Amino acid sequence: MRLDIISIFPEYFGPLDVSLIGKARERGTLDVRVHQLRDWAHDVHKTVDDTPYGGGPGMVMKPEVWGEAIDAVAGDGAPRMIVPTPSGRPFTQELAQELAGEPWLLFACGRYEGIDSRVMDEYATRLRVDEVSIGDYVLAGGEVAVLVMVEAIGRLLPGVLGNAQSAVDDSFAPGSMRNLVEGPVYTKPPVWRGREVPPVLLSGHHGKVARWRRDEALRRTVRNRPELAAALDPETLDKHDRKL
Ligand code: SAM
Repeated sequence: MRLDIISIFPEYFGPLDVSLIGKARERGTLDVRVHQLRDWAHDVHKTVDDTPYGGGPGMVMKPEVWGEAIDAVAGDGAPRMIVPTPSGRPFTQELAQELAGEPWLLFACGRYEGIDSRVMDEYATRLRVDEVSIGDYVLAGGEVAVLVMVEAIGRLLPGVLGNAQSAVDDSFAPGSMRNLVEGPVYTKPPVWRGREVPPVLLSGHHGKVARWRRDEALRRTVRNRPELAAALDPETLDKHDRKL
């Protein structure tokens, strides 16, 4: 998968050299290219922003600079363009899965009050453009949002996780974990500071372990994410689930 990231702070993307994503890049599963937006600004100060029409505080990113940058990076190709913004559609595990199936993504990192809206309108005529939010809070720029998305997408690519089953059992994973968060996890020793691992996990009984995990996932979802619990499809709940 090819990922192009355009930003005025390319140094934010150092973490993409380490851990799972770093290894995926070394192996060639991920081809990440980070671009400095200011390379397409032509004045002596390399200006990328200007005052907002209609007045108000802050600055808005200029369409000419973004246009030149995206034209140069996309060329004649058709990457799917992702624009992080708090006003976008929510970034979910489902969207991460969908984006993991794309061959090429182009991320446009906004700063200040965001990017002049005509940029998204213009590219929507020839590329698939998604404005995406990573949560209901406001960051200073799109860089951290892109790091979040690249990590969530990258770990779903074939061969990136040591064990592909991990992604299937994760919170929010499509299938049996849809609208559920994962329950608690434990490792050795069996007793730590007087606290025991739930005995069922030591039983070796796969059916009982699976039932316990499902119960704990449901309990946690009800406790921490009642809005997700309310959205569970009743068709997917068995008698035992309903008691919880
Ligand atoms: N004025 C904008 C608003 O209220 O919607 C906020 C702009 S924010 C200070 C600057 C940039 O940070 C945005 O253009 C976007 O790239 C990024 N950003 C901030 N919060 C974000 C979020 N929750 N999800 C994705 N990107 C975000």
